[in-house]
Amino acid sequence: MKSIHCNGVEVEVIRSKRRKTLSLAIRNGEVKLRIPARLPLHHAESFVNEKSHWIQQKLLDHPPVAPKQFESGEDLLYLGQTYRLAVVAAQSRNQIRLEQDVFHLEHRGIQSSEKALKRRVESWYKQQATSWLTTRCEELADQTGLKPSAVEVKTYRARWGSCTASGKVQLNWKLIMAPPEIIDYVIIHELCHLRQHNHSPAFWQLVKQFDPAFTQHRSWLKSNGLQLQL
Ligand SMILES: [Zn+2]
Repeated sequence: MKSIHCNGVEVEVIRSKRRKTLSLAIRNGEVKLRIPARLPLHHAESFVNEKSHWIQQKLLDHPPVAPKQFESGEDLLYLGQTYRLAVVAAQSRNQIRLEQDVFHLEHRGIQSSEKALKRRVESWYKQQATSWLTTRCEELADQTGLKPSAVEVKTYRARWGSCTASGKVQLNWKLIMAPPEIIDYVIIHELCHLRQHNHSPAFWQLVKQFDPAFTQHRSWLKSNGLQLQL
């Protein structure tokens, strides 16, 4: 794997036969430069040098999100609120409770592995998400008159929702970490695909009809989406 160093930042260079232009992408602190297969490396280097200010700014604006270790004191998001994790050993109970701004995670036994705690927190989030997202989807379907054939809550790596050709709306459980108005935007977005299976101006017009502030919600998700993870 080739990489270019620029002001202390490592840029991974990916060559591709089909590519005709250079493109820079930053995701979770990783900088990748895609270039045409035969482009001389010094062209890529001067391109990166030209963009160096932009790269620095992007990295500052979107610092990489470190994975949680499930230790007391860490922050967890739920419906747009930040909760401080408190891991408590309990004799008999094994439950999760949100009180004020504390996310109480009780577990039996003195030691529980990070993996086991993560599994419990994740399954709790999935349960809450299933109930919140399906209820909200039904309410918004009533309000908009756009009725899906079914609603499903599932795990996606890189998307918030989808709408199948058969009219099923599928939503990412990680949305439960976002503020309610952002969740509503994603649901409305998918419901609107029942009428418009594309992102045409007519589609966005329909979204706007049900969510007048959709552009803010869409850009919130773009800038903060990476935070919505455990
Ligand atoms: Zn869409």
